[in-house]
Amino acid sequence: MAPAMTDGMQTELRTLLRSCVQCGLCLPHCATWLATGDDVQSPRGRLILLDEILGGRADAAEPSFLAAFDQCIGCRACESACPSGVPYSLLEYGQDLAFAAAGSPAGWSSGPALPAPLIRRLSSVRFLRTAAAAATLASGLLRGLLGPGWRTRLARAPGGLGRLPRLLGSLPRSPSADEGVVRLLNGLIAAAAGAAAGRVEDPSPSATVGPESRVASPDILFFRGCANEGLMPGTSRRLLDLLRRCGCRVDVPQGQACCGALAAHTGDGRGREDRHRRNREAFGPGPAPADGGPWILVEASGCGHELKSVPGELAGEVLDATEILTRLSLPPLRPVPLKVAFHDPCHLRHGQGIVAEPRRLLRGIPGLELVEPAEPEVCCGSGGAWGLRYPDLSGILARRKAENLAATGADLVVTTNPGCLGQIAGALADVAPGLPVLPLTDLLWFAARKG
Ligand code: SF4
Ligand code: SF4
Repeated sequence: MAPAMTDGMQTELRTLLRSCVQCGLCLPHCATWLATGDDVQSPRGRLILLDEILGGRADAAEPSFLAAFDQCIGCRACESACPSGVPYSLLEYGQDLAFAAAGSPAGWSSGPALPAPLIRRLSSVRFLRTAAAAATLASGLLRGLLGPGWRTRLARAPGGLGRLPRLLGSLPRSPSADEGVVRLLNGLIAAAAGAAAGRVEDPSPSATVGPESRVASPDILFFRGCANEGLMPGTSRRLLDLLRRCGCRVDVPQGQACCGALAAHTGDGRGREDRHRRNREAFGPGPAPADGGPWILVEASGCGHELKSVPGELAGEVLDATEILTRLSLPPLRPVPLKVAFHDPCHLRHGQGIVAEPRRLLRGIPGLELVEPAEPEVCCGSGGAWGLRYPDLSGILARRKAENLAATGADLVVTTNPGCLGQIAGALADVAPGLPVLPLTDLLWFAARKG
């Protein structure tokens, strides 16, 4: 709910709003502006609308106000791009105002494709596993019925049916068996070596990825995200294996819950606080001890952003997996002579300001060539629950992202957030079939594995 406005708050908001000089430099970084070309769906347009509302020249209950703010993905690319330092919190405030005026929780009246209670179920590990099994079954049936070109044929169907291929292909997944990762990457390496026809060097294994200050054997508390636990348990298991081989003492606290991000996305403040409380009980309540306490490792960028959004809540330092891995002495890494593109999840790049760490890890793998796609800062259109609520806009953005990634000529795409992984895999299946997406930590595990 939008807070009741005191005079002081009004003045503060006005000052912040005035810091937007309407230069428009944020527009090319805003996913919804890129997808629609509509100025109202840009950071600048939204701020102008907010100024109108606060100045009493427009009514917050106007459906167009709600539509503009509800369709903001919350990617924060505008905040990173803005030279005047206009904070994203202004857009959050506009969203609160719009939802409060609409009289419905979190703007569900403005065109969701799926009902909120169903989206909230996405934090249930059992529900996710059932959904994944159902999606696999449905894809198999459709392939059997319509043949190998089922995706293209179905995509031409009108309405919701046309969205089905992307929806079925967008559930985050990674190989559950270690052998699946090994087979996939060995196949890519063999194909790349064949394509390069002997031009591939065979670099020696590296000693370690080179962090400035390495930590020998830290204590790590492992945070399980719902999507990782429900849909990508093999990736979590391989990351645990890698951490133990780096000499870490790793514990997976019992009783931990969803980070609370999904509840937040659906306007369920009480549900979010409940998840935070359960995690305080599981990890110990904050603030962290003076020495920083144990590292709380978060695999999914979206969860990390949510857990870091309440500083000092847990009795340890919440860190993304890539932040921790760059601080460790990794085992010797075998060569992986592949072109690899990294996709920056917004929750990592804009939400947590983590850009260098994943790239440093990838550059530390001998023989690997890191290639950068165009528009690395633009959202892939997953946006947690957002992509389910605005599937058409989400589809446009997924395709744009997949085309940019494919244009790098990469053999492999890696990323660190399950939602982005599923979204990009679903779009690549149409744009560049044969270009796989893996969690970054699976690639690192492969490079570091024994035997
Ligand atoms: S938010 Fe920043 S970048 Fe965007 S129009 Fe305003 S001042 Fe320019
Ligand atoms: S948060 Fe993202 S979608 Fe929203 S205005 Fe900023 S750049 Fe655009």
